[in-house]
Amino acid sequence: MSKISCNIVKDMLPLYHDSVCSNDSKKMVEEHLSECDSCKSELDRIRDDIKIPKKEIEKNKIDGKAIKNISMLWKRSKVKSFIKGVMISTLLISFIILGYFLLFTWHITNVPIDVVEIKNVSELADGKIVYHAELTDGLSLNRIKYDMDEDGNFYLTPLRPIIKTKAQLPSSLVKGYDFFDIKRQEINRNGAEIKALYYGTPKDNILIWKKGMDLPKASDEIENMFQFE
Ligand SMILES: [Zn+2]
Repeated sequence: MSKISCNIVKDMLPLYHDSVCSNDSKKMVEEHLSECDSCKSELDRIRDDIKIPKKEIEKNKIDGKAIKNISMLWKRSKVKSFIKGVMISTLLISFIILGYFLLFTWHITNVPIDVVEIKNVSELADGKIVYHAELTDGLSLNRIKYDMDEDGNFYLTPLRPIIKTKAQLPSSLVKGYDFFDIKRQEINRNGAEIKALYYGTPKDNILIWKKGMDLPKASDEIENMFQFE
């Protein structure tokens, strides 16, 4: 067995590593390697050198895939976020509209009855009850809700939105005469008898009329006011 120098082996190691040397050379290198740690570690270095780039390539492949995946994800998430955006804007607009409706137009809040003055309650020739209502806080009134309980108590409840606005006078709702047609309301409620009429809520109200109460006859002036009915 001929001893060969480390330098020769080291020259041959790349060929050996790539298995492109003759069998004789291969044998020779292997013999040397079994006895020479220096050349062995040189072979390891070559293997590592070659492995590392391979690893790098693998890594790059993975990265490339990852980039593709990310861009696909991004495209998908772009669509998603567009849909999300549309949904959020739609929701937001709905909330704004709902909020506006609740705050400015929904007739939610009752008018405290201590700012209400009811006077000149009288009876028209045809039996309708006429009264003069005035809200003294100068704020607008949106509508009057009609409610009747099982005992025949009828409530005319003045309502205004949460965001109160100044009354635009002249407004007959805020200050003026109004009438109440008992007979028509009884027909509307399938003949249920109205026994009392209140302005306000069951808890906070002013009595306008009660069964058995004798109301004065309306003046000609008031009678003329409601002639169109
Ligand atoms: Zn050697």
